[in-house]
Amino acid sequence: MTLERIVGAAHYVPGRVNIGVIAGEGQAAFIDSGMDESAARKAAQAVEQAGLRPVALINTHAHADHCGGNAFLAKRTGVAVYAPPVEAALIQHPEIEPFYLFGAAPFPAIDGKWLHAAPSQVDHTLGATLSVCGLDLELFPAPGHSINQVAVLTPEAAFLGDALMAPALLERYPIQYCYDVVAHRATLAALAGLQKPWYVGAHFSPTRDLEGLLAANRRNLERTAEAVLAAVAPAATTEDVVARAAEALGILSMDPPAYLLNAAAIKAHLSAHVREGRLDFEILEGRPLWRRQP
Ligand SMILES: [Zn+2]
Repeated sequence: MTLERIVGAAHYVPGRVNIGVIAGEGQAAFIDSGMDESAARKAAQAVEQAGLRPVALINTHAHADHCGGNAFLAKRTGVAVYAPPVEAALIQHPEIEPFYLFGAAPFPAIDGKWLHAAPSQVDHTLGATLSVCGLDLELFPAPGHSINQVAVLTPEAAFLGDALMAPALLERYPIQYCYDVVAHRATLAALAGLQKPWYVGAHFSPTRDLEGLLAANRRNLERTAEAVLAAVAPAATTEDVVARAAEALGILSMDPPAYLLNAAAIKAHLSAHVREGRLDFEILEGRPLWRRQP
């Protein structure tokens, strides 16, 4: 795997999850570490082959496919690890991800590496800026997809983590994981104000087309919001809403981890609908029931 230059100091190592690399003054800073040791090893080799000395690893957020390679990179290269507050706690205690998705101690079918990264140390929590590799990076708040995600900005590029997804991925996975729909909407609005020549996602190649990306992501979010509302009418249990909304959006089968992720995203929409006055929530005869407001 080779280090691909995007613009200026901004580089990346392409993969199932792209790993961003800031290069300057002979040093390198990784942005996220991929799913596991194998992804992280490729990134370390690409940086070393380019003659750069790894000094830092910046995590955009704590999902297992973004911090699963942290432990390997820290051990192999000695980088200092930076992560946003809260996300840092989740990275250090990765057993919390299957716990929060399921709500209790997980069992093997929902405790694989997709949801449960290797544990790793975070050395510093991120503030609004970070000086590294001779460059002042800006950390741009991008919560919503996860509780406290950040985007990493160089003067010419924005590393977006999972704040935006490629249109093709939105087609393939119509229900996008989301922690907080209201926060994610605000993040999409805030990203529209970014004036960078290049945008880099964890799951898409660098692009200049921010407007196209934003439009596709907004459409996906609102389509899911509408499907969830339609699945409730006039009243339904959480499990019925998940089954109906998934079917309406074209999801024909789910394995246990996919079910947990889709159900969590749908609950994020249900929560937003309650907070914005469209739904009420009650427990009726031992069942959680969502009801359209009159
Ligand atoms: Zn994520």
